[in-house]
Amino acid sequence: MRSITSEMKTMKEIDDSLQVRRLMDLLPEDKSNKINRILENKCSTWLSVIPTNDNFFAMSADEFRDAMAIRYYFGMKGLPSACDGCGENFDLNHALNCKKGGLVTARHNEARDLNCDLCALAGLAQVTSEPILQESTGDDTKGLRADWSVRGFWEHQRVALFDICILNADAKSLQNQSLKSIFNTRKQIKKDKYCAAAESRRATFTPIIASCEAIFESEAEVYFKRLATILSKKMEIFLLSCTLLHQSQNADLHNEVCKLVYKGLANEMERSWDN
Ligand SMILES: [Zn+2]
Repeated sequence: MRSITSEMKTMKEIDDSLQVRRLMDLLPEDKSNKINRILENKCSTWLSVIPTNDNFFAMSADEFRDAMAIRYYFGMKGLPSACDGCGENFDLNHALNCKKGGLVTARHNEARDLNCDLCALAGLAQVTSEPILQESTGDDTKGLRADWSVRGFWEHQRVALFDICILNADAKSLQNQSLKSIFNTRKQIKKDKYCAAAESRRATFTPIIASCEAIFESEAEVYFKRLATILSKKMEIFLLSCTLLHQSQNADLHNEVCKLVYKGLANEMERSWDN
């Protein structure tokens, strides 16, 4: 009986994937590239959390529509015609790319702050936002800061430095590159920038590279798994899974998911302390 069930399941999966292929062939290239990227990196389920108001899991109608539009590359409704930062035509791609409009900086800073909060919640010591690795001397030597640092993250008492990059893989400048190649390039740029300064302080350095769909580069995946493990040990229950982080539809929603996990953990901790 079990073998028949398994066989039926396999047949259904094959049939489903053929149907998906047929539908994908009908899509314009930009849409099929995006959806392929989401499917290949297993980010295709994101509404996997009960939408409770308590933890800000419930999305407003606008947030839901925007999230669907971002996910499936539909045109978004109600966007301004011009960017308030640079004055260029405003669309989703521009919103995810423009460094003058403020959204790119906001998503970076929100991710940095959230990771600091999660590390502190996990009970890790000396969590610092924007630690200075190198002071600017005013002449040729530029200052250097990482995004956050934590003592004892990878090794006992050793400082771990992190710097995050969330990128839009649909940006025109990246369109002809594979995601793997984009990740490798960004990772190397970060390592070239930070590794020597980290080593001189006997610290480790880990680049956290992710796409706007919350696809993580392999070192970032290891980081989140480690953070989830430390958090779950702290809580003595396994509440956090990196799968959840993968299931969010973009980096901004990913941030929201992380926040909710954080708030959920905080509520659990309060309850366990009360008891
Ligand atoms: Zn702009």
